[in-house]
This record gives sequence, structure tokens and C-alpha cells, in this order.
Amino acid sequence: MQHFQAFDSAFAGIDHLTCYSVKACSNINILKLFLKEGSGTDIVSGGELHRSLMAGADPQKIVYSGVGKSCGEIIYALKSDILMFNAESPQEIDRINKIAGSLGTKGRIAIRVNPDVDPKTHTYISTGLKENKFGININEAYDEYIRAAKLENIDVVGVSCHLGSQLLDVTPFLDALKKVAELVKKLRAAGLTIKYLDIGGGLGITYDEETAPHPKDYGGKIIDSVRYLGGTLILEPGRVIAGNAGVLLSKVLYTKRNEGKKFTIVDAAMNDLLRPSLYGSFHRILEVSRKAAAKVSCDIVGPICESGDFIAKDRELPDFQPDDIICVMSAGAYGFTMSSNYNSRPRAAEVLVSGDSYKLIRKRETYEDIIRGEVDDK
Ligand SMILES: *Cc1c(COP(=O)(O)O)cnc(C)c1O
Repeated sequence: MQHFQAFDSAFAGIDHLTCYSVKACSNINILKLFLKEGSGTDIVSGGELHRSLMAGADPQKIVYSGVGKSCGEIIYALKSDILMFNAESPQEIDRINKIAGSLGTKGRIAIRVNPDVDPKTHTYISTGLKENKFGININEAYDEYIRAAKLENIDVVGVSCHLGSQLLDVTPFLDALKKVAELVKKLRAAGLTIKYLDIGGGLGITYDEETAPHPKDYGGKIIDSVRYLGGTLILEPGRVIAGNAGVLLSKVLYTKRNEGKKFTIVDAAMNDLLRPSLYGSFHRILEVSRKAAAKVSCDIVGPICESGDFIAKDRELPDFQPDDIICVMSAGAYGFTMSSNYNSRPRAAEVLVSGDSYKLIRKRETYEDIIRGEVDDK
């Protein structure tokens, strides 16, 4: 909550709409907290639209990004009357046009432009480079805008971009905005109404010792560079709000040594927190249950049958013993939302903590949950 307010207030000086990025942490109880603060949502699927609506989001504060929106998802979004689609290809625009026509409505769109700026983050979470699958190359966007504006059931209302995630420097944002601002001016000169400038999410957080820009600094610099354009600025923060608001707790099951290397085997695994396995991400590990005296070099690994199943590698950590509880820090964003049932492991419970009170907001899954939906022809 504090993180949301810190972020949103950084843009108090300008007409703006903060659309929390649902995929970072999507429990409807969490969404409700931000909605109460006036947030909208940034969604990337019909499922996230459903969550947003269930949590009570104002459809006029929902923006929908993603390269592969299906017909069903487009119908759902049009019927829900969301604020706009961030359209990512000419074919998608044509499809929105066609479906909107058949529903007797119009699809509001921004085109997601790919500004070809290097966000200097992990390659898997860079999205604004010209070789990435996202958006339309900014040099081709003008022609596509002119074409889209002529379609009968399309209302062009904005320009959007999103560079990637975990950016630790404001400069790539400003470089991208310079290019996007040029496009906005050209489009307006051609008579298009560009009301919304959506600059996506991507602001980074501290996982280890990296320093991330404070939202105030980020907000101030962004405002300075776009204020003269007018209109409404849309922001899609995810990680910066949820990342350091959540932890993963896990119990130590066993310790062992293989070839002189210590492994601490815990009951959480890559199905609970995929980031270390997927991106080689660093998460700080703290001890919860007792103060272990000595530190030892070890890997923290889960029970899953994959060598890639680790939570921490080659780290100097307390000499954990069975039944100790460890705390995996910075697990609030892309933690539970990326979790799976791999190895038929029930997913973890989610608990919302505020001061010294807490509330269960998602039950621990059961074995029954795991096979729900599977057809059993007796
Ligand atoms: C993932 C995503 C975001 C949020 O990114 P963070 O790095 O979590 O802030 C925002 N917009 C789009 C289009 C995204 O795909």
C-alpha cells in the first residue's frame, strides 16, 4: 500500500492514471487495496480482466496489453467497455475492428510502439528492443496509425510503450519518451486525437544491493519530459509496488553434502518461486526461526526433480538445520503469479499482513484441487 501511494503520489503534479499491473501479484484482495486508492489495472489476458472486474475495478480504468489477444478475450473486453486496448499488431487492430463492428460498438486503442531502447535488464524481461516480439516498430507506427484511424470501428485514443522490467535507471524511459513524443506530435499534426500517453511499467527494485531510482525521482523526470504534451499519462507499475511487499516462507526439510557442497533442501521449490530458475534471479534469504551461529556456503534447493530447481545458489548463509523456517525476500512480484502445480505440488497459501494483524487471502491448495477438472471415465 505504501509502495502504491509512494508511486502514485510521484505523479500528483500531472493528469495521470496509475494502472497497477495485475500480473505482478493478482490476488483479488490485493487488487482491492489498490482500487480503493483510485488505481486502475493493466491486464494481459481475459483471466486478468475477470479478476479486475471481480475485485470491482472501474472498466474505464482498465488497459489491455499483450501480443496475442484471442477473439474471446477481445469480445469480453469490448463488452466490458474497458478504457483501451494497447494493440500490438496490424492484424490485431483489424480483428478488434471486425469484432467491435459485429457487436455494434467501437474499440478504443493505443498502439504499443516499440521504441528500440535498451533497458539494460535481463534479456528475458527486455521488451522494448526492435528484435523483441512486442509492439510495432516506432518507425512504422505512424503509417499504421493513419491506417487504423480510418477503420470504421476503431477509435484511436493513445500511444503506449513498455520497455521491460526491473529497470534501474530512468534514462531508458526518457530516451523512449523522446521518440514517443515525436510520434505523438506527428499524429496530432495529422489530425488524430491522442489523449493518452501510456508509458508502461518496468521500474526496478532492490533485490540484493542494486540501487533503484525512487519513484519520486522517476516521476519527476518523466513529468518534466512529457508535461508539455498534455493529455493523460498512464502508468503500469507492477514490481515496484508488489515486489518488496511480499516474502515466501519455507521450512527446511533436510541438509546434505554432495562432493563437499552443502545443499539445504526446503519445502518450497521452483513451482512456488520460478524467478531464480528462469532468470537466475537473486533473492535475499533470512532466517526466521532461530539465530544460527555459523555461516556456511550452500545452495537452497527445492524437492522438484530438476537440477534447475533452486532458490539460492552458492551463498554464504546461516547453517540451517531441519525444521528451521527461512524467509525468501522480495517475492511479492512474479512469485505466486508464476507458480504452477509442477510435480503435482499444491500451491502455497497467500496471507495478507498489515502491522501485527493478518488474513488468509488464498487457501493452501489440496490434492483435490490438483486433479480438479481432470476427466475420469470410470
Ligand atoms: C509486465 C508489464 C508491466 C509491469 O511491469 P513491472 O516491471 O512489473 O512494472 C507493465 N506493462 C506491461 C505491458 C507489462 O507487460
